[in-house]
Amino acid sequence: MSFIKRLFCKHDYEFVRNIHGDEVNNVGGRRSWWRCRKCGKRIARDELRSDDK
Ligand SMILES: [Zn+2]
Repeated sequence: MSFIKRLFCKHDYEFVRNIHGDEVNNVGGRRSWWRCRKCGKRIARDELRSDDK
């Protein structure tokens, strides 16, 4: 039951990628995607990472 795991997860986020162009507006002005390496939850942060690939 992944959603139960997610409820109790303390979340350990790792950087996924930066957000560019129109997608910035779509996510409310956030600049990067982060994913929890334990439960897979994704969040957007204001921070723009310089090591975009
Ligand atoms: Zn998590």
